[in-house]
Amino acid sequence: GKNFAYQNMATIKAYFDKDTHTNNFIGAGGNGVAVDDFNADNFDHGPHGFVGGSPMWVNQAGSRPIAGTSNPPGTPAWGSAWKRATADYYTHQVSMDAHGAHQSYRGNYLDLDPVYRDAYGLPLLRMTFDWQENDIKMNRFMVEKMGKIAEAMSPKAIAVLGKKVGDHFNTASYQTTHLNGGAIMGTHPKTSALNRYLQSWDVHNVFVPGASAFPQGLGYNPTGLVAALTYWSARAIREQYLKNPGPLVQA
Ligand SMILES: Cc1cc2nc3c(=O)[nH]c(=O)nc-3n(C[C@H](O)[C@H](O)[C@H](O)COP(=O)(O)OP(=O)(O)OC[C@H]3O[C@@H](n4cnc5c(N)ncnc54)[C@H](O)[C@@H]3O)c2cc1C
Repeated sequence: GKNFAYQNMATIKAYFDKDTHTNNFIGAGGNGVAVDDFNADNFDHGPHGFVGGSPMWVNQAGSRPIAGTSNPPGTPAWGSAWKRATADYYTHQVSMDAHGAHQSYRGNYLDLDPVYRDAYGLPLLRMTFDWQENDIKMNRFMVEKMGKIAEAMSPKAIAVLGKKVGDHFNTASYQTTHLNGGAIMGTHPKTSALNRYLQSWDVHNVFVPGASAFPQGLGYNPTGLVAALTYWSARAIREQYLKNPGPLVQA
């Protein structure tokens, strides 16, 4: 259960007057524009005091009935003022996201719960997790960069959803659903569950494709890499394992 990691997310929303049309009711899942200059090693981290990074993007996926009714900070959450603001801002806003890297830490892990069990009497999976200093620093950096882009568009209002110093992980707020790690790939059975072909070190006919194999949370969304690793693993099974079943890597 080690190297359990998440994704480090920040959002900036900009709200415009009625002359600026964003038409966010129109969209497609993969439709968007991204800035990748502050992801991974694409920039000098020296002065900033953190590792990792994030792409920043506007993804116009087509807004959903409730998710699409975001209003400027200070708008009441119900009643006639909320209805007025929703009518005013529905097609005049843009949302920018950073879905960033997340490092692995000794203190963030999965294990078997000592108390809670499922209907079959088996222990439930327990998640021990919190944000660390590096995560907060990176998040604040991304908020600052996205904030400048938002300000340059001269909106009427800006909403910032980012992490503050001292913030703890909170399951109640949406922060992507991109979990990684817990049964990681690596170079040695002492420090990892799987070898580079996603084959279990312990049981050679068990292959474990999935985001659970990632040793760190990456600065992109996970599914492309899950698919790529699965192809990589399937190829090794077809071309090597089936001809000669056994460990594909000697420890
Ligand atoms: C709402 C939502 C939106 C997302 N959007 C995006 C996105 O836009 N882009 C992106 O890249 N990623 C996105 N993700 C993340 C993406 O879905 C996951 O990263 C990806 O599915 C992980 O693949 P996996 O194979 O590791 O795990 P999963 O897809 O969760 O597969 C695990 C499988 O194991 C099965 N299973 C569990 N226990 C057992 C058991 N005991 N025996 C047998 N089978 C079992 C489960 O039923 C499941 O089918 C999103 C996730 C969610 C929930």
